[in-house]
Amino acid sequence: MQYIEPHGHMVSRVTDDYERMAIAGCEAICEPAFWAGFDRASAQGFYDYFRQITEYEPKRAARFGIRHYCWLCINPKEAEDMQLAEEVMDLIPQFLDRPGVLGIGEIGLNKNSRNELRIFEKHVQIAQDHGQLILVHTPHLEDKLKGTRLIVDALKNFSGIDPSRVIIDHVEEHTIDHVLDQGFWAGITLYPESKATPARAIDMFESRQGERIWMNSACDWGVSDPLAVPKTMQSMRLRGWSDEMVRKVAWENPATFMRQSGKFPL
Ligand SMILES: [Zn+2]
Repeated sequence: MQYIEPHGHMVSRVTDDYERMAIAGCEAICEPAFWAGFDRASAQGFYDYFRQITEYEPKRAARFGIRHYCWLCINPKEAEDMQLAEEVMDLIPQFLDRPGVLGIGEIGLNKNSRNELRIFEKHVQIAQDHGQLILVHTPHLEDKLKGTRLIVDALKNFSGIDPSRVIIDHVEEHTIDHVLDQGFWAGITLYPESKATPARAIDMFESRQGERIWMNSACDWGVSDPLAVPKTMQSMRLRGWSDEMVRKVAWENPATFMRQSGKFPL
C-alpha cells in the first residue's frame, strides 16, 4: 500500500534505504532540517545543508520514483549559539520559494532553555511573515511535557498563526491530547529504542480516532528504522484495521496537512 514518510532525515541514510522504502510503497519523503550528527562551525555549513536538502536529495529520491520535500530552520540543538542562529535564519527566506520547501521546521525545544525559546519564537515570526507551515520538534523524555506546554503557549501568543497549519511532532501518550485539543496537528514518531512503538502508536490512533495525526520514522544517523511506517501499517492490519483506516493515517492525513503549503501535489 502507498504511504508518505512525513519525517525522515535522508541526508544521514544510504541510497539503499531509498530503494527499500520505494519497494515498501513510499511515494514521498519530507525532510525537516535538523542536527546533522555534528555541530556545524558556521552559517556557511547550513547554506550548504539547505542546498543539499533542496537540490541533491530530491534527485537521489527521484531515482527510485520517490518525491522529496523539505523544511528549513536551525534546529534547537544548535540554536543555543544565538549569533549563529541569527545568521542561519537570515539565510532561510532566499530558499522559501524553492519548489520542494514546505515550511519552517523542525523548530522547537531540546533542553527547554531560554535561548532555544527565543530562537523558536523568531522562527515562528518568519513563518508568520512568509505564510509558511510549521513543523515542531518536542524534547526527549523527561523534558517533553514541559517543553510541549512551553511550545503550545508560545505559539498561542502569535495571532497570525493558525493551529491547523502547525504540526507538533514526537508526541507521546502524555502530550498528544494537549496538542490536539488546542487545534494543532500531532506527529507520532516510531523509534526502535525510544519514542513510540507500533503498538503504542496504534493505541494513540485508536483513542483519538486518527484525527489530525500522522506517523513517521524520523530515521536519522541514530538507531532508527526507515521502514517503521510500513511495518506499523502491517501491525494495523493485523489488529483488524480496514485498508481505508490505514490509508487515512499513512496517506490522507499527511497529504492533507502538507497540501496547505500549496506545493504538495499528492
Ligand atoms: Zn527529526
